[in-house]
Amino acid sequence: LASRDFHPADTVIKIKDVEIGGEQLVIMGGPCAVESPEQIDEIARLVKAAGGQVLRGGAFKPRTGPYSFQGVGVEGLIMMAEAGKKHGLLTITEVMTPEYVDVCAEYADILQVGTRNMQNFDLLRKLGTIQTPVLLKRGFSATYDELLNAAEYILAGGNPNVMLCERGIRTFETYTRNTLDLSAIPVLKQLSHLPVISDPSHGTGRRELVEPMTKASVAAGADGLIIEMHTDPDNSMTGDGVQSLFPDQFAKLLVDLEKLAPLV
Ligand code: PEP
Ligand code: MN
Repeated sequence: LASRDFHPADTVIKIKDVEIGGEQLVIMGGPCAVESPEQIDEIARLVKAAGGQVLRGGAFKPRTGPYSFQGVGVEGLIMMAEAGKKHGLLTITEVMTPEYVDVCAEYADILQVGTRNMQNFDLLRKLGTIQTPVLLKRGFSATYDELLNAAEYILAGGNPNVMLCERGIRTFETYTRNTLDLSAIPVLKQLSHLPVISDPSHGTGRRELVEPMTKASVAAGADGLIIEMHTDPDNSMTGDGVQSLFPDQFAKLLVDLEKLAPLV
């Protein structure tokens, strides 16, 4: 079902007035994690003012170590839903387990499957039973075929609203956190009809690389970007402050992008 042979036309996922996979370049921006009502409200205001359409933020965080901050949970879903509504943004948040799919879908417009959960088949099957759009991140050691097969689980369950996300893979290089595989963008667009989103934040792990890799992703044919932005990245509650843009950098990047592709 994910294959272009089966479905030659591009899939366009329409959520309210935003079309993902169509002419419009979709920008999802926000913090790695929802931290407080004030934090997410202020970031939502800045994402909207810059021209973004979707607010990102994790309420449940898949942390490498068990003693790290794990997210604020359901409270965070509520904070983010309120900020999104107030500022006229769609919202996207990560869901980690099948048990939390329904509550996350109640509060968010798009559900994100993280890189570590790309082959969590119980989670994928559960996401196939609802109609909420899903952003499926590529596992950091997954092939294109494995990513497309993971998408297939959701599609086969009856949910056609799947977008694929390249977020960097593990290579021998250590300067960057991951290696953003730009080839994934045209390859996935050729093999599949599903929208392709790029995540240059996790794909590089370095703030100064987010701008060039965002532009490169658009040039490679990405339908949208998911970008971390924080008002106080040095004091963010996850380690992802080092890859988060400052609000003025985020705003400038979106001005530059308007020259490459329409945001509305
Ligand atoms: C995130 O988006 O903050 C995240 C945890 O992403 P990934 O699953 O790609 O590491
Ligand atoms: Mn993050």
